[in-house]
Amino acid sequence: MAFKPANNIQDLQYFGEFGGVNPSISDSSTYTFLSAKTMFDTFEGNADGCYLYSRHTSPSNLYLGKALAAMEGTETANVSASGMGAITPVLLQLCQAGDHIVSSRTIYGGTYAFLKNFTPRFNIETTFVDITNLETVEAAITQNTKVLYCESVSNPLLEVANIAGLSALAKKYNLKLVVDNTFSPLSISPAKLGADVVAHSLTKFINGSSDTVGGVVCSTQELINDLRNVNSGASMLLGSTMDSLRASSILKNLRTLHIRIQQHSKNALFIAQKFESDGLKTVYPGLQSHPSHKLYKTMMNTEYGFGGMLTIDVGSLEKANALMEMMQDKNLGYLAVSLGFYKTLFSAPGSSTSSEISLDEQKEMGLSDGLIRFSIGLDADIERTYNMMKTCMTNLNIL
Ligand SMILES: *Cc1c(COP(=O)(O)O)cnc(C)c1O
Repeated sequence: MAFKPANNIQDLQYFGEFGGVNPSISDSSTYTFLSAKTMFDTFEGNADGCYLYSRHTSPSNLYLGKALAAMEGTETANVSASGMGAITPVLLQLCQAGDHIVSSRTIYGGTYAFLKNFTPRFNIETTFVDITNLETVEAAITQNTKVLYCESVSNPLLEVANIAGLSALAKKYNLKLVVDNTFSPLSISPAKLGADVVAHSLTKFINGSSDTVGGVVCSTQELINDLRNVNSGASMLLGSTMDSLRASSILKNLRTLHIRIQQHSKNALFIAQKFESDGLKTVYPGLQSHPSHKLYKTMMNTEYGFGGMLTIDVGSLEKANALMEMMQDKNLGYLAVSLGFYKTLFSAPGSSTSSEISLDEQKEMGLSDGLIRFSIGLDADIERTYNMMKTCMTNLNIL
């Protein structure tokens, strides 16, 4: 039977302390104990259901983690203060000095900078590869490789990873496959395709209201326990803990994710088809022309579509900037980084979210100056939006 991530979120049941329909928020950093012995047992992790200190766990964070684990179909999950606060500890937990990572070369700029510039300080080296070529990926694996890292749909080029294929490689060489699923929540369920770890920046579609940063790692109880270990857990010791108030507000937004994703996907497909037929160089996994369109179809939970992200190439940074300023002026969206908002957001990745990547490397991976990344919004009348965008492009001689 098909995996139904939104049902799994919906089927969770919990009540607040006084019968409230939302769980009560635990607005405390520390917790009292009736007996000193229980405090000791809790610290050692042997007293289930007892809370000690909110960097370790808090009821609100556990509720959100449980819902996200249900969505991804993993045993459990650990939420964190940001997406980077989820991704960096999990990589440090899985790798020791001397270990090696094989990573997609088209990934979020912050993750790229972490692997390229930061982890080498700890003697953890990364080889960046074209993740869509499984032979290249396999050839990069060494005796020291511990982790395969990719995004299901990559930022900003929207390359699609063959998660089942990568998982087979991970099993063959005894590696952990870590997948950042930020661009495709609900549409793709990486753990169901064999990923060992699924990470998200909750900042984007999952929270969806651009009012906070947040992150999550979804995986086995064993790995999450390791991350939270008071003596050796990277999440526990690096301390990027989410606040309980935020966890409770993200949980409330999560409940409408399935409706929002359907609308983002519907609108993005409409715009992508129109842009492409207007002759613009358009990249969207839902277009037949996307090199991984068929692969995406084999991996997706069909009802959620191909997601809200698309790119166009307008030829030069000057044209891209002029178009983005004009579209903002006409209130078609905001010239802003990030994604998953109710309004369309657009930015030129080469000079913003991927600026950590050197110009030479940008060129090699196919990230051109004139590229504009769109996170298509929840617009009620997407045809009107498209017509207004087209007028902007005609005025600027892009079309
Ligand atoms: C934004 C983003 C991140 C980082 O998340 P933060 O919440 O900003 O720390 C990681 N991966 C992808 C794909 C992202 O878009």
